[in-house]
Amino acid sequence: MTDGSSGNLETTRLQSAGPESTRPAYDRILLKISGEALMGPGQFGLHPPTVERIAQEVKGLHALGVEICMVIGGGNIFRGLQGSAQGMERTTADYMGMLATVMNALAMQSALESLGVHTRVLSAIPMAQVCEPYIRRRAVRHLEKGRVVIFAAGTGNPYFTTDTAATLRASEMSCGAIFKGTQVDGVYDSDPKKNPDAKRYDRVSYDEVLQKNLKVMDAAAIALARDNALPIIVFSLDAPNGLAGVVRGRGKFTTVDPG
Ligand code: UDP
Repeated sequence: MTDGSSGNLETTRLQSAGPESTRPAYDRILLKISGEALMGPGQFGLHPPTVERIAQEVKGLHALGVEICMVIGGGNIFRGLQGSAQGMERTTADYMGMLATVMNALAMQSALESLGVHTRVLSAIPMAQVCEPYIRRRAVRHLEKGRVVIFAAGTGNPYFTTDTAATLRASEMSCGAIFKGTQVDGVYDSDPKKNPDAKRYDRVSYDEVLQKNLKVMDAAAIALARDNALPIIVFSLDAPNGLAGVVRGRGKFTTVDPG
């Protein structure tokens, strides 16, 4: 955290988390999920029960007093590369991808607020009728007031991904780590869904991820995390209460750090 004005609110929420809860290792984190995580069993778009299940996970962590930033991808709706492969101009396709992330952010905001978690969407592309523009100091203030902040529209620039946006925003917001929720419980040396002998790393360095081209995030995102010594924790979004557990060091996950 950048200043201490959230102390009272945080203490209140920690107390409400119950006496058995141990203190999370981080005061502020960024949760990155892909757009595809919101599809549920479908092949496209949003599956409301899945969005609500993930919102419940976020609520569980919020109840521990952790300040939560989120970045949600747009791949369940549109990806720029896919559009340009079909003949569309790449930058136009990328802007469409960024707009898709705004839809996902609004869906998550709606799910979180229906669970009683105050949430603000801040977009890198201003759209005043829909959400707030991204202003770093405003985002910090929202976090200090106990609101979940969802960063939408990626970095606002084509040729980037929401993984890079997540690393950028986590660095700007002084988050302790990025938590990347996936369908598997960490980083493997090969695809565990195809290779039953795939080995899971407990810990792996940024350089090894880049050299071995391990599937964590794209290279630009990993390089930015490395330059800012920002740990990336890869965990499964499928485990119930997985997020709140992993932030307290419980369960299975992989930590990507300087090594
Ligand atoms: N995108 C972009 N700039 C950004 C972030 C995203 O142009 O800073 C576009 C890009 O076309 C990308 C799409 O938005 O394909 C959706 O983001 P992403 O592929 O990262 O979503 P995810 O795979 O996480 O669902």
